[in-house]
Amino acid sequence: MDNCIFCKIAAKQIPAQIIYEDDDLLAFKDINPAAPVHFLIVPKKHVATLADCTAEDAALLGKISLLAPKLAQEQGVGYQADGNGPGTGGFKTLFNTGPDGGQEVYHLHMHVIGGPRPWRRSL
Ligand code: ADP
Repeated sequence: MDNCIFCKIAAKQIPAQIIYEDDDLLAFKDINPAAPVHFLIVPKKHVATLADCTAEDAALLGKISLLAPKLAQEQGVGYQADGNGPGTGGFKTLFNTGPDGGQEVYHLHMHVIGGPRPWRRSL
């Protein structure tokens, strides 16, 4: 979609620190990280918000949710119930939706956030 920054990242028209890509999804590091690890998972197709998703997007949302722990693990903030020490304590996932939800970029994205607290900004 014209003038959508995340569509432009998906189209490689503007740079980003991409950590994952497949036919449907892209994941890249947040430009203004809230925490030591902060990346975004976005669909390549333009969907404005979680509230705009339909039943047709169920598989896409499932793919995003399943990718989050895999990439969190790769980025050093995975979760293992029987683990202890760095990299096993887990991470936060977040979809901001609409102005009251704090959404600023109107292209669906899941925030994945982790690492030692305190974190630098709230979301
Ligand atoms: P908020 O800024 O309140 O978290 P969103 O939930 O819409 O609002 O999140 C948009 C996120 O996109 C922000 O964390 C912001 O830092 C990030 N961001 C904006 N532009 C870029 C960019 N070019 N590359 C990477 N991340 C970006």
